[in-house]
Amino acid sequence: MIVGVPKETFPGERRVALVPAAVAALKGKGLEVVVEAAAGAAAGFPDAEYDEKGAKVVSGRAEVFSMADVVCQVRTLGANPVNGRDDLELIRTGQVVIGLAEPLSDVAPSRAIAERGAVLFAMELMPRISRAQTMDVLSSQATIQGYKAVLMAADHLPKMFMMMMTAAGTISAAHVFVIGAGVAGLQAIATARRLGGVVHAYDLRPAVKGEVQSLGAKFLEIELEAGDSQDKGGYAKAMDDSFIRKQQQMMSTAVAGSDIVITTAAVPGKKSPVLVTAEMVAGMKPGSVIVDLAAERGGNCELTKADETVIEHGVTILGPTNLPAEVPYHASQMYARNVQTFLLHLVKDGELQLDMDDEITEQTMLTRDGEVVHRRVREIFGLDTPEPTEVVAEGSAD
Ligand code: NAD
Repeated sequence: MIVGVPKETFPGERRVALVPAAVAALKGKGLEVVVEAAAGAAAGFPDAEYDEKGAKVVSGRAEVFSMADVVCQVRTLGANPVNGRDDLELIRTGQVVIGLAEPLSDVAPSRAIAERGAVLFAMELMPRISRAQTMDVLSSQATIQGYKAVLMAADHLPKMFMMMMTAAGTISAAHVFVIGAGVAGLQAIATARRLGGVVHAYDLRPAVKGEVQSLGAKFLEIELEAGDSQDKGGYAKAMDDSFIRKQQQMMSTAVAGSDIVITTAAVPGKKSPVLVTAEMVAGMKPGSVIVDLAAERGGNCELTKADETVIEHGVTILGPTNLPAEVPYHASQMYARNVQTFLLHLVKDGELQLDMDDEITEQTMLTRDGEVVHRRVREIFGLDTPEPTEVVAEGSAD
């Protein structure tokens, strides 16, 4: 079985789907790997390292697709909507494609891959069960996001992070408020604490209080009945508007007292809730920084513009949408480990065995046999809703 690794073509994407160490692991299980030349270069993995680990490095992208039984990408068409179209004609019937696909945002890219006859696995759909933790790209890449968000904020802040007593006077520590203490939020807390910041955090899910505290941050309790704000997959549920308004009022004080606000509250497949309003931004000290990790789906801050730097009332608001690509070496290393583990999960005795009774296989498979097969994706996009039958008005038929 041959595994192919094309170079990523999304603008600014510096990650690679498999790093040389993953090649070695796959080869150890009897798989061959073919890599497009320079696929890992932007992440710090030169062709020579792939070669050393036994991969075949080829110059043509078409060659990778034509040789590979399984193509591993960071961004498949759904997550690379413009340049990804060039790959469509290279995809073959029966070929397996593994990567990020943004399956909950738009179904057209999944359909386009289905029409090519390929089996597409969307890594974002990995079930959040302990058995699949090593394959969970949302977690691995969120870890990078949380870390990098703090460094970006530190870089833009006109202050130092840590408290210092010097002959030239005392410097007070930066106050950081992290909204959403999931994987990215917890990593942001840990990073801000390591830099010496005083950190407060808030999450809808009171269950995270202990984790927040164990990282040395204070958990902000909001006296609200959050009800059952966590579903069985560990995700926050979308909350209604009145709840969000109440929550915003109570958070104003925390935002006003912070030098840095990092927001990570995303609801998968839905528009991000606005938690930091323009009014709250106006209440912040000039020079403060907001890093909005939910920018891709509208942002948690009302003033966020995706991938732009907005300055309002002297507050800098950053809305980066591809932070893992800013730390491409380790982001690729972690992503590759996730993909490698997933791929080996699908392979038995050197052959792909797609067992639809297995939760991991069933929940990540997006397309097969010319169709979008994922149950939740079909429901979201109404693919099972029958087309309305045409009603012919009386007397109009001839
Ligand atoms: P996410 O990116 O979906 O959300 C980020 C955080 O924002 C979550 O903690 C969420 O509760 C919070 N949030 C959402 N709306 C909010 C609001 N209006 N106000 C305040 N906070 C809000 O989450 P994630 O980091 O991908 O994962 C969330 C949780 O899922 C993890 O902390 C973990 O408990 C669970 N998880 C389990 C596994 C596993 O078992 N394999 C893997 C990953 C995550």
